[in-house]
Amino acid sequence: MLRCPYCKITISTRTDVCPLCHVRLTDVGNSKEDVKRTARAYPQRAKLPPLSGSLFDKVYLFAWLSLSLAMIIVEAIVTRHVRFSWISVTFLLYLYLLFRILLRGSEYFPQKVTVHALILTAAIYSLRSVLPEPEIIAEFLLPILYLVSTIAIAVFLIVNYKRPNRYLLNVLTVSLMCVIPFLALVILDDYKNFALSLATMILGLAVIIGTLIFRTKTILSELKRKFHL
Ligand SMILES: [Zn+2]
Repeated sequence: MLRCPYCKITISTRTDVCPLCHVRLTDVGNSKEDVKRTARAYPQRAKLPPLSGSLFDKVYLFAWLSLSLAMIIVEAIVTRHVRFSWISVTFLLYLYLLFRILLRGSEYFPQKVTVHALILTAAIYSLRSVLPEPEIIAEFLLPILYLVSTIAIAVFLIVNYKRPNRYLLNVLTVSLMCVIPFLALVILDDYKNFALSLATMILGLAVIIGTLIFRTKTILSELKRKFHL
């Protein structure tokens, strides 16, 4: 019989991770022998070859690659530099990642929001050479993105306040991201409008401090569960 000390349950069928919290069972007091001794409830899934995406992946990525190359080559020939092709190249890749990770992934809403914020950060940053004033990235675009993400997760947490432990690391991640735009503006020393990024940073820091004060224990156990510290 396998045991998960976090969820305080015993598990009667063979599995590597706890079905509830996904901690690796051999990391929390079950030996490999214990796992082997436990009966399987269903046959093991056949190993998939590493490049076996779905038909959607193959078609989309092939179309994306050929379209991108075509646009970049045409723009390079016509205008002698490549700038605006990046917009559609980035946007099409962003749509793909959005569909692949957010819509089809099975993670929870806060994780989706966090991943989405990271993807969109990369997409926005890759457009810096196209924007007429690149400083609006740190002045407006990223602060708005992080504000919306933090608020979305905060609302979700308030609705699911009984089980906050699953989402605390996501809260901390997005609130840390809130600090980045203002720091970037200060480091680059090139800003006109820092009000929004400053407000975002203050909100982020407030959330971090609040979470650390009220949920220290849960954060520590969550870190342990995620990274096996
Ligand atoms: Zn568990």
